[in-house]
Amino acid sequence: MTDQYTFRNPVTAYEKVSPPKQHQEEPGLDSELTPLADLGEDTYRGTGRLEGRKAIVTGADSGIGAATAIAFAREGADVVLSYLPEEEKDAARIAGIIEAAGRKAIRVPADLKDKKACRDLVDKALSELGGIDILVNNAGKQVAQKDFADITDEQFDHTYKTNVYAMFWLTKAALPHLPAGSTIINSTSIQAYAPSATLVDYASTKAAINNFTKGLAAQLAPQGIRVNAVAPGPIWTPLQASDGQPTEELPEFGHATPLGRAGQPAELAPAYVFLASAESSYVVGETLNVNGGITSP
Ligand code: NAD
Ligand code: MG
Repeated sequence: MTDQYTFRNPVTAYEKVSPPKQHQEEPGLDSELTPLADLGEDTYRGTGRLEGRKAIVTGADSGIGAATAIAFAREGADVVLSYLPEEEKDAARIAGIIEAAGRKAIRVPADLKDKKACRDLVDKALSELGGIDILVNNAGKQVAQKDFADITDEQFDHTYKTNVYAMFWLTKAALPHLPAGSTIINSTSIQAYAPSATLVDYASTKAAINNFTKGLAAQLAPQGIRVNAVAPGPIWTPLQASDGQPTEELPEFGHATPLGRAGQPAELAPAYVFLASAESSYVVGETLNVNGGITSP
């Protein structure tokens, strides 16, 4: 059976998707993407790299977060899945895959723009898993606007609350409970360095996440807590089909990368597993770019 270790050409490892024009209301569902994305359901093979670990993954119902949650479970971790209430259908499917791997999947639907919801998420992880040693701040909001004047105050506020404030609140709530050896992984983006003209608000949150990661990493390293980030390039997920890209640009999504295609969420999961696992013990404050070859600093 093919899995992430199968020797293959990365250009053709996945079909070059040319998603037809489509539109979903935010936050969008994986189950309604055309074509469907690969979350590693049939391909991710665990090798015990996270045996006994306890993880919170935000945005774990779909896309990169779901692929990460599946991989964590197959590597031996129990997982708390955070997502929005309207994403229950996607979340239930991912929880089923985690349970089939013999691990706990605790579903916690809540809007993380709310400080209390962030604290409650951490409390729930502590009570259900008996601790936390991996925090993946991955939930994100991205709404493209061609005209700067169309970025409403509300959009700006919600993008910063989801992408930056929730990361701050979750980190603050989790930190007192994280033992030495724990890892925090934040989802940033190629947008942190190379902002699209249509993503001024979103891209600037990703620059903030990158910087936050490096500063916090320096502060927490002496306590034995490692903080790192993953910077995806163009990855086929519901974020992109729910106004993350201008609809008419979807068919070309990811084609300009050196690999010539968009990435699949399943191709991101190994980066999160590496940073979560003790095998990356000397990797601190790093941003791991997984972007099909786009030049990054
Ligand atoms: P996705 O839509 O599958 O995941 C984003 C998730 O964020 C949603 O599933 C939702 O559960 C969560 N979310 C959004 N608003 C929330 C809120 N207010 N409260 C709680 N949860 C909320 O898309 P994805 O592409 O897998 O996104 C995951 C991360 O990867 C995001 O941080 C995104 O910025 C980042 N990223 C994605 C790409 C890409 O091309 N897809 C590129 C670079 C970075
Ligand atoms: Mg989702």
